[in-house]
Amino acid sequence: MQFAKVWQRLLGVERTVVEQVVFDEDEGAIVASVRPRKGATRRCGECQRRCAWYDRGEGRRRWRALDLGPIPAYLEADAPRVRCPEHGIVVVAFPWARHRARHSLMFEDQVAWLAKHASRSAVEKLMRVAWRTVGAIVARVVADAHSRKDPLDGLRRLGIDEISYKKGHKYLVVIVDHDSGRLVWAAPGRDKKTLAKFFDALGKSRSAMLKEVSADGADWIAEVVRSRCLNAKMNMDAFHTVQWATDALDEVRREVWNHARRSLGDQALADRLKGCRYALWKNPERLTGRQKGKLAWVAKTNNQLYRAYLLKEELRLAVRMKGEEGIALLAHWLAWAARCQIPAFVELGAKVRRHRVAIEASLRSGTSNALVESTNTKIRVLTRVAFGFRSPEALIAMAMLAVGGTCPELPGRATPLSFELTAA
Ligand SMILES: [Zn+2]
Repeated sequence: MQFAKVWQRLLGVERTVVEQVVFDEDEGAIVASVRPRKGATRRCGECQRRCAWYDRGEGRRRWRALDLGPIPAYLEADAPRVRCPEHGIVVVAFPWARHRARHSLMFEDQVAWLAKHASRSAVEKLMRVAWRTVGAIVARVVADAHSRKDPLDGLRRLGIDEISYKKGHKYLVVIVDHDSGRLVWAAPGRDKKTLAKFFDALGKSRSAMLKEVSADGADWIAEVVRSRCLNAKMNMDAFHTVQWATDALDEVRREVWNHARRSLGDQALADRLKGCRYALWKNPERLTGRQKGKLAWVAKTNNQLYRAYLLKEELRLAVRMKGEEGIALLAHWLAWAARCQIPAFVELGAKVRRHRVAIEASLRSGTSNALVESTNTKIRVLTRVAFGFRSPEALIAMAMLAVGGTCPELPGRATPLSFELTAA
């Protein structure tokens, strides 16, 4: 293999001529001078169309490439501008980087992969980039993936949900494909206008292909869905009722805790109650021995909180059982909630009753919402991880990367290693 080809491989560039490689003493980095190969020159950065030369732009430009061993590496090239009939005066396309990027394709792919699989500090340290840069890179990688494959194509059954972030002060509308479990669309907001944007993007013919739309029972969602997709059956994801119950239980727990702290002045009791949060929140089959102990303590010392816990569990059981058995248990639960005298659950009972028809339809249809539920749970976790991003767009891109099926492979992993050295 020629020396130039080895450098091409090392730097991870294609359709590119490596002219020269030097060690920049000031930067402590390797700098490779490159240029697009014939045929890849003078193309519009937006649309890749061959265009007329305009000017030299801002002259030479550098892009971060993957480190070579422990040493940072850069690509350096002229960055002239062309005149595109569609996009006007625009910097040319570079075969080694995405448009407007200051990092190479491989560098960006690796950052995106790590953002999904590793911790924030691991990504920052390993790649030597700021978290904000990670957000910008992820947004570019996702937009690139979407330009190659439109996630809104072929949708038949989808779930619409609202997810809060920034401690419940901000919201996202998220759309999940029931068949693949993937996140396909998201936007900041929680109103009719925001959801209408989704149906605008989907268009009339693709909206007409939708068979089933499920949501959490919010009126504003139902209203938009009814007016925009006439062929779809509207139902309710039963797991939302469990989410409501979990929220109600948390409300009861907070009240009891506040009562212990303020009215009784019993800080030790309040602390102990606070420590029970996870025991009350987790599914009983997954409790550790210690958490079981905490639950037993709640059962013994706080009747109201324990009954609230049992109410939450019975509703969860009804949703899990599905079918006629689930519906019968739901009826029992509704009667119990109505007379339980715990305000949060009396209120929840009324809410469930209002949506009873939709919930029963969902229990009867028996389709599993496990995929959508787990996707939603993952997005909720992400809203905390991506907290360092400034914009909701970066948070959405991060969610698309993690649960939207747009995460790139790690560079150079297409061919598996034919041998592996094992440490003695
Ligand atoms: Zn163009």
